[in-house]
Amino acid sequence: MGLVDGLTVVVTGAGAGIGRATALCLASEGAKVVVSDIDSNGAAETVNMIDKAGGTATMIAADVSKPADVAALIDMAVTTYGKIDCAVNNAGIEGKVSPFAEQTEDNFDRIISVNLKGTFLCMKAEIAAMLHSGGGTIVNLSSVAGLIGFSGLSPYVASKHAVAGLTKNAALEYGKSGIRVNAVCPGGIDTRMLDSLADQATEGTQTSAQMMDPMHPIGRIGTPQEVAELIVWLCSPRASFVTGAIIPVDGGFVAQ
Ligand code: NAD
Repeated sequence: MGLVDGLTVVVTGAGAGIGRATALCLASEGAKVVVSDIDSNGAAETVNMIDKAGGTATMIAADVSKPADVAALIDMAVTTYGKIDCAVNNAGIEGKVSPFAEQTEDNFDRIISVNLKGTFLCMKAEIAAMLHSGGGTIVNLSSVAGLIGFSGLSPYVASKHAVAGLTKNAALEYGKSGIRVNAVCPGGIDTRMLDSLADQATEGTQTSAQMMDPMHPIGRIGTPQEVAELIVWLCSPRASFVTGAIIPVDGGFVAQ
């Protein structure tokens, strides 16, 4: 029996990176996964991978910053599987790296609309569905950038601190309604996003591993699977007394 056997889980941004690894890990632990991404090809590929591994998944393209897309995603999950037991709000963007005074309003608005407003819109719809069915679990993707600052990343850092705030508030408002809400804070994880950040920060002179391995006390960046393992556990009944927690999964990064 898997950790999340028979549970229905929605994962946003599941067409690549941490979201894809989470969708695969959830399916391998027995969940029925609703794979969602703005990139429908990526989402279809994730569903294909789950199918090949013998799991259960379905997909819908959705931009988390658009209320109509979020409503369609949650409606589709409830219509297909009857209810939502868990949701992983993972979709996010890194935007442009630049000093604070040179940050553009456009970059700020884009990052906030996906990372913060997108998480807010998803949580609102997920909580409504979970209240209707009697409870559930939400895991949000914050970051070590939701715990400490990073030069050059002010809008991203602000968005990820705010995701931690939404997490704490929803946990205290809905604890007695059987809804647990937590956030995970990954350190550097080997995905397209980290490649983009390294590329921008070093003007293409270093890979993400070259730039970031030494920054982590454990001596390396992490894998998407290592984040997925924590998320799946938080979704599972094994984490029944964990709510409102903002949990690093970072190779010791914020212990420094
Ligand atoms: P990624 O870029 O590899 O994947 C992100 C996925 O989200 C992509 O499939 C993309 O198409 C999708 N997406 C982007 N905008 C979207 C939107 N508006 N609506 C729906 N889907 C959208 O990134 P990743 O590294 O896997 O990051 C996943 C999450 O983890 C993000 O929230 C990110 O901020 C967070 N995170 C990543 C790292 C890291 O080092 N990679 C560290 C800390 C936190």
